[in-house]
Amino acid sequence: MTNIVVLVKQVPDTYSERKLSEGDHTLDRESADAVIDEINERSVEEALKIKEAGEGEVTVLCVGPDRATDAIRKALSMGADKAIHVSDESLHGSDMVATAKVIAAALGKVEYDLVIAGNEASDGRGGAIPAMLAELLGLPQLTHARQLTVDGGGIKVDRETEEGITHLEASLPAVVSVTEKINEPRYPSFKGIMAAKKKPVETLTVADLGVDAGEVGLGNAWSTVLEASPKPPRTAGQRVEDEGDGGSKVAEYLVGQKLI
Ligand SMILES: Cc1cc2nc3c(=O)[nH]c(=O)nc-3n(C[C@H](O)[C@H](O)[C@H](O)COP(=O)(O)OP(=O)(O)OC[C@H]3O[C@@H](n4cnc5c(N)ncnc54)[C@H](O)[C@@H]3O)c2cc1C
Repeated sequence: MTNIVVLVKQVPDTYSERKLSEGDHTLDRESADAVIDEINERSVEEALKIKEAGEGEVTVLCVGPDRATDAIRKALSMGADKAIHVSDESLHGSDMVATAKVIAAALGKVEYDLVIAGNEASDGRGGAIPAMLAELLGLPQLTHARQLTVDGGGIKVDRETEEGITHLEASLPAVVSVTEKINEPRYPSFKGIMAAKKKPVETLTVADLGVDAGEVGLGNAWSTVLEASPKPPRTAGQRVEDEGDGGSKVAEYLVGQKLI
């Protein structure tokens, strides 16, 4: 029996124009469509596959504003059993350290053998929450998994980075993060969408978790965005006419730009 918690983040759709709020430089979540992060659909898929191969329960855990319920419902409609939604005004602008603390505290509310996260969120792109979480919980961390197998009380992972593939093993409970190569997520069925409406979602505040509001939020972040400006529009490139010496001209240009 493997009880799994999947960490799901709601992010602005990468197809929408994403921007920062002018006031505090946090992500302007209202200006873009909000969706479950694609990598987290794969995290849910992996949890469902493990559950379907044996027994257990899949719990979705999401820290995010009220509208993050849409991301939670999507995960439930794929087949997850229940959800915990941590939603609290004081969390606005929280950094990775605060987010990891809140997730760790919420994990204290549920029995689990395995935590599955994405390797990186498509908005914050810190890629550090899974590692921070493992550290806070004192659990093994197996990050960047492109393949994983749960067998009895243990887990095996193929970890892929630019350096190559490493084979990792750990005993459960453990924290895993998965890459986009892990699987192809299923589409929710009509039956799944209907069933999701009745699945339990527990909504908790920071106080419910016993986390001090003075440890979270923009004012308590360890780093601050002081200034932000939009990317300058693309300028026209430099044209190289090929009169038989195009290759040398391109090489000269690249040398001039210190690119080679
Ligand atoms: C516009 C913008 C401004 C920011 N400004 C600051 C700042 O001023 N100071 C600062 O310190 N930080 C800032 N951040 C970082 C922000 O707080 C992080 O996005 C957040 O803490 C989570 O980190 P991440 O998204 O990089 O997570 P990652 O480590 O990239 O996420 C990996 C995985 O962890 C899980 N996960 C991550 N977040 C959640 C969540 N909320 N709920 C459930 N699971 C989750 C998911 O499974 C995800 O796939 C900013 C981010 C943005 C987008």
